[in-house]
Amino acid sequence: MTAPRKLAVGNWKMNGLRADLHEARKLAAEFPSPSADIVLCPPATLIGAMAAALVGSSVRVGGQDCHFNSSGAHTGDISAGMLADAGAYHVILGHSERRADHGEASVMVAQKARAAHAAGLTAIICIGETEAERDSGQTLDVVLDQMKHSMPDSASAANTVIAYEPVWAIGTGRTPTLDQVAQVHDALRANLPDAGISLLYGGSVKPANAAEIFAIKNVDGALVGGASLKADDFGAIVAALDRA
Ligand code: PEP
Repeated sequence: MTAPRKLAVGNWKMNGLRADLHEARKLAAEFPSPSADIVLCPPATLIGAMAAALVGSSVRVGGQDCHFNSSGAHTGDISAGMLADAGAYHVILGHSERRADHGEASVMVAQKARAAHAAGLTAIICIGETEAERDSGQTLDVVLDQMKHSMPDSASAANTVIAYEPVWAIGTGRTPTLDQVAQVHDALRANLPDAGISLLYGGSVKPANAAEIFAIKNVDGALVGGASLKADDFGAIVAALDRA
């Protein structure tokens, strides 16, 4: 088995204007990583401009969603091929905010991931339990079921990343204990179709807690929301990943 690659992904969500591209340039210039892949996922309006701003750097650009069809009558949607055409190499799929706001179920996430693969993109597939599911002892059942049904049979270490993001930890400043993260990541690794697929943790990762999270076995990196908006914060997280 090839060892999973270290990866730090920044999810800007619905934040960022052209004026904020200097943060991406600063990240690339001041925080180059010798060991990890770095991806920034801005809103779709900025993908082309960010890709142009990062030409010649090792920081790659990703989308935050794509449609499962390659073209057609889908007003407001973007295909995986369009993301690739704009300069993206990755796409986040099945984020809990899309599962909640847009009713995306795992079966649809798998269709989107298949479309991403067909367009040559790496799919970053998000899974995670709600607080009620954790409190009722269902965490492993939920995340393993989501992973199984969100991953198409085209998934391999070359084109797929799994991000474990407890829903209750996203944007809240709360995180699971290190043992809880380890338990989930061990179970995910044991059930991956390709053990070389990178496993990210996401949910309130910041410079202050990054090192202890990256020290956990089977955590290969992070999916970072709020702390990815500022190059200094995201750069400190990338540096912690390099040291892990
Ligand atoms: C996310 O949006 O995927 C995320 C993990 O957000 P935050 O880091 O802000 O919790």
